[in-house]
Amino acid sequence: MTSAELPSTPTPEATPSPEATSTAGTAPETEGAPSAIDELLLRHDQGPDHGAPEVPTPVPSLHLAIVTCMDARIKVFDVFGLRHGEAHILRNAGGVVTDDVIRSLSISQRKLATREIVIMQHTSCGMSLITEDGFRDELQADTGLRPTWAVEAFADVRESVRQSVARVRHSPFLRLTTAVRGFVYDVHTAKIHEVT
Ligand SMILES: [Zn+2]
Repeated sequence: MTSAELPSTPTPEATPSPEATSTAGTAPETEGAPSAIDELLLRHDQGPDHGAPEVPTPVPSLHLAIVTCMDARIKVFDVFGLRHGEAHILRNAGGVVTDDVIRSLSISQRKLATREIVIMQHTSCGMSLITEDGFRDELQADTGLRPTWAVEAFADVRESVRQSVARVRHSPFLRLTTAVRGFVYDVHTAKIHEVT
């Protein structure tokens, strides 16, 4: 699909007052600002992606699932020299094994034949810059609602990796819980340190 085929972004009915836009993190998009999504669609149209006709199955050929952070500095394919079709890659804030990650891993193992799990968190993670209660307080102050979910903030990345590894090892929903290894990736040097 080209960018011209996309529905246009809805226009706000009224221009918000300066007061309404002053709260950090809640300001609506600036009128006329370039859209990153439009830019990406242009890059897609001009880029080399051709799908995966050479990969006939959704089963990852390395039978591997990788859980890592959404951090934009981690190029997972480059980090591990991954090729098309080799691994499932699950990303979230922190690279934490949450209930939703267990959901994906259970499907990955039971229906798509993965056997090993890599959990890779990293240095200088945004999740170490916030605290569990601080972020919950912020959400409650802003919205009136305190989330039912855990923020999963952490101060010690190695301990967070150990916690995620332990969640895999103790999950009743996974078929294979021993072939899991945890790592910390240094975003500045690209070095990978295993957490034992
Ligand atoms: Zn991170």
